Amino acid sequence: MTETTAKGWVKIVGLGPGDETMVTSQVQEVIEGATDIVGYIPYVERIPDRPGRTLHATDNRVEVERATHALGMAASGRRVAVVSSGDPGVFAMASAVFEALEVANKPTWLDLDIQVLPGITAMLAASARIGAPMGHDFAAINLSDNLKPWSLIERRLRLAGEAGFAMGFYNPRSKSRPHQFARALEILREACGGETLISFARDVSKPDEKIQTVTLNEATPEMADMRTVVIVGNKDTRRIGPHIYTPRYARDEG
Ligand code: SAH
Repeated sequence: MTETTAKGWVKIVGLGPGDETMVTSQVQEVIEGATDIVGYIPYVERIPDRPGRTLHATDNRVEVERATHALGMAASGRRVAVVSSGDPGVFAMASAVFEALEVANKPTWLDLDIQVLPGITAMLAASARIGAPMGHDFAAINLSDNLKPWSLIERRLRLAGEAGFAMGFYNPRSKSRPHQFARALEILREACGGETLISFARDVSKPDEKIQTVTLNEATPEMADMRTVVIVGNKDTRRIGPHIYTPRYARDEG
């Protein structure tokens, strides 16, 4: 196939946290118009198979390879939707596509039509279910050490806690690194204080959704797994009836 940039495109889209009503209509339109769907197996499985649409489901650890494949197909005139859960710019495929573009170093690819379309990220979907824990300044941190050293994660946790940010943690606890989340809780107790509220939101917007809020002193590592996004408030985060919120103001206590 000869390379042409005339009609092909790559659109990197977010499918939201799970519920189909939380997929934006913009993203639905892209999926309707795509000839090829590229992504991690469970996300591609959310797209029905049908004539004229090819599904390319791959394992999670080959993001840049998958992105290069998507760019190559677009260069041959195909309309490619790269799918991520949540938002594609949050610990997901959008950066992988731009990294692949840089690594490939093909001048013609720089003229490709590449667009990123946002989705509802797990942290904000969970926050909305809980109340408004991210109502003031916050930090989003990926607790997986696949792509960065654990020492850096510890440092960021400590500094974000000490600076008074509320926090959202992605990929909090996997079977391959069971001790790290216990260590993360220890650091948070020291940096934020044991009475700070922490919420564990599992399978948000899916049929098995489970949301639990406790203090850092009460939290145990088993409350999190890879299907959970963890939300830690700041020291002003509080309960009002069944709701949890962080006030919109803060004081500078140094
Ligand atoms: N791009 C995605 C995040 C991918 S990283 C987004 O913006 O949401 C994968 C992590 O996201 C999981 O380990 C979990 O921490 C979180 N996550 C994704 N979907 C979730 C859901 N429905 N409920 C709770 N956590 C979720």
